[in-house]
Amino acid sequence: MHDVIIIGAGPAGLATAFWCDELGLDTLVLEQAEQIGGQLHRIYNPIENYLGVKARNGEEFLELFAKDVETAEFDLWTQAVITSVDLKAKRVSLASGESLQSISIVIASGVSPRELGVPGEKEFVGKGVIESGARDRQLFAGHDVCVVGGGDAAVENALLLAEVCPTVTLVHRGKKLRARREFTERLQAVHCITVFTESVLTRIIGDETVQAVEIQRKAGIKPFQLAVRGVLIRIGVEPNSQFFREQLETDEKGFIKVSSTQETSVPMVFAAGDVSNPLAPTISSAAGAGATAAKVIAARLSAGR
Ligand code: NDP
Repeated sequence: MHDVIIIGAGPAGLATAFWCDELGLDTLVLEQAEQIGGQLHRIYNPIENYLGVKARNGEEFLELFAKDVETAEFDLWTQAVITSVDLKAKRVSLASGESLQSISIVIASGVSPRELGVPGEKEFVGKGVIESGARDRQLFAGHDVCVVGGGDAAVENALLLAEVCPTVTLVHRGKKLRARREFTERLQAVHCITVFTESVLTRIIGDETVQAVEIQRKAGIKPFQLAVRGVLIRIGVEPNSQFFREQLETDEKGFIKVSSTQETSVPMVFAAGDVSNPLAPTISSAAGAGATAAKVIAARLSAGR
C-alpha cells in the first residue's frame, strides 16, 4: 500500500513526487515512457520564464530536475504501461501484471500534440513534416515552408522559420489569429510570411519527401496546391485523460476539473499540470500544482493517522 501513486513523470509529476518525498510519504511514480521529462523533451527553445532558472532548452532544464530526482527517495518506474485504473478504489494495474494499491492518486499525465488528421501527416514525419522550428529550421534553410495553426506555437514557429526560409505560409482556420500580441506584431513586420485565414490544409503531397500542400480557402471554390518542402503543424494539444474520463469530471475537451487544492471530483484523487490546466499551461504552474497536491495529501494523511 503506497501513500501516493503519481501517474506521469513530467514537471508536474516530478514536482509532486519531490514534495511527497520531502513530506515523508511513501511515493511511487509511474511513467510509461523510457525516460522521465514528458513534454520537456519537446521544448527546443530557451526556457527563460521559470523564476530563478534559465535553460537553453527542455533537455537542459530536465537535467536540473533530474539532479533532485536522483537524490530523492521516491520510487520511479519507467516503461510502466497502465492497463486500467480504478480511481475510487485507488487501484492501478500495469501491463507487466502488477496490481498496485494506494491511498491517493495524482494524475500528471500531461497532453499530446493535436493531430490534423490529413493524408500525408504521418507518412512524411521526418521527411518534410517538421516537428520544431527551433530544432529543425536549418534543415529547411532556403526552402519554402507552410505552418498550420493560429496560436502562439504556430506563429512563434512561423517567425523562427522565416529567419531562414524564403517564404512561410501560415494557414489558419479562423478569421483572426489567436496568438499573443507580441507574436502577431512581429509577424506583421516580416514580409516573407503570408497568412491565409479561414483556410484549411487538406493534404500533404510528395514522393520521398514533401513537395506540396493542398489548401482550401473558404473564399475559394476549389482547393489549390502550394509548393513547399516543409510543413509544421501546431494546432494545440489534447489532454492525456482517456483512462480517467468515465470516472471523474472533465471539461468538454477532456481536461480534468480540479479544485483549488488540485483535488478532482473523486476524493483523494488529484490532478496536476497540463492535463488539468487548459488555460495557463506552464512549467511553473505544473510544478506549483504538484507542490499543492503533495501538501494537501500529506495534511489529509497526517490528520487521519
Ligand atoms: P492553442 O490552443 O493556443 O491554439 C491552437 C490553434 O490551432 C488555434 O488557433 C486553433 O484554431 C487551431 N486549431 C485547433 N484545432 C484545429 C484543427 N483541427 N484544424 C486547424 N486548426 C486547428 O495551441 P498552441 O499549440 O498554439 O499553444 C498551446 C499552449 O502553449 C498555449 O497556452 C500557448 O500560449 C503555449 N505556448 C507558449 C509559447 C511561449 O510562451 N513561447 C510558445 C508556444 C505555445 P481556432 O483559433 O480557430 O480555435
